[in-house]
Amino acid sequence: MGRDPEPRCPYCGSPSCVNESALSLFLRASERIARYVVKERDKVDDDDPLFRPSFGEVGVCRETSRRIWACPYCRSLIPEPEPDGMTARCPECGREANVAPSRRKIVC
Ligand SMILES: [Zn+2]
Ligand SMILES: [Zn+2]
Repeated sequence: MGRDPEPRCPYCGSPSCVNESALSLFLRASERIARYVVKERDKVDDDDPLFRPSFGEVGVCRETSRRIWACPYCRSLIPEPEPDGMTARCPECGREANVAPSRRKIVC
């Protein structure tokens, strides 16, 4: 944390595919969630879905029309992962988060 690289599309590498306002909303919201999760981590079962934050949808690639997701843990922009039921795994940090329902937008 601390470094804040320009957000880039994980598919084509262009910054213009990323919805920056959605991303900054998501990062602000997930910062609070992450703090809460880390604080409570020792006490809770890691598999409890209630304590797992969700990926955020922060744009659609203009080249591939695929969704761009953001990881609530490491804040990486990732290609839409293969969902494994309710959860998916971040390819960057390897942690599991809930799949955001596709109709739901960023919720603070
Ligand atoms: Zn793109
Ligand atoms: Zn991650």
